Amino acid sequence: MLLLPPGYYQIKKTKKKGRGVFVRQEIPAGTIIGDYLGLLMEDAKAEILEKRYGNACYSMDYNNNGLSIFPVDIKAAGVHLINHSCAPNCDAYFYYGHTLYFALRRIWSGEELTIDYGFDPDDSDKKEFLYPCFCDSPFCRGTMYTSVARLKHYGSFYRQETKGQKFKLLPVGQVLGALEKYPAAVKDNSIFDLFVNLKAAPLNYYDRKIPSVKELRKRLRASGRRLNFKKLGLKVLAVINGRIVVRS
Ligand SMILES: [Zn+2]
Repeated sequence: MLLLPPGYYQIKKTKKKGRGVFVRQEIPAGTIIGDYLGLLMEDAKAEILEKRYGNACYSMDYNNNGLSIFPVDIKAAGVHLINHSCAPNCDAYFYYGHTLYFALRRIWSGEELTIDYGFDPDDSDKKEFLYPCFCDSPFCRGTMYTSVARLKHYGSFYRQETKGQKFKLLPVGQVLGALEKYPAAVKDNSIFDLFVNLKAAPLNYYDRKIPSVKELRKRLRASGRRLNFKKLGLKVLAVINGRIVVRS
């Protein structure tokens, strides 16, 4: 389910990745984009469905209990249409047993919504697939697999973040439906990597020294643009693993 108002997005065909979701209005950082809803099934069954649909849609893990969520109708608009990128503008946020997608930074009109699928490289059932990536980003890993270290890092963050959230774990065959209430926005956290929109005009600054990572995150999230430090001859393009990525 997409939680953006209808006029805010458009489903379009992409060159290499099937359909994608494109925004038609600017979206501020933290905005909840949608919730991955669908039918609950065993992981193995979800993999069969993925193959049947030619990997046009990937299932979502359901609370790490051997179950996956697969859309009831893959043709209907939903977050399952959001494509992978190694330099995404969205990320997942776990909330009362649901997987919400949110905007990592300001997203510009015309941009495609993307998320890092971050497939588990240790997932023996899926080893037969290479999952090549076609995101065309300068940060492309060439694959939709992520690192074990990153998965562990996310795992411990979310265990902490969702502590005390009580919800009923649904069984196989049930449909995971919408929550009654969604959070207004997701707050920034240093665990999230941030990548600017390389097509948007850079934002000029005249600082004499590079600001702290915290301050850079704030500016990057709010603008979604390259931060061009004119006096320093540096452009900030991303924050990855808490490290600033610059280009001179
Ligand atoms: Zn990539």
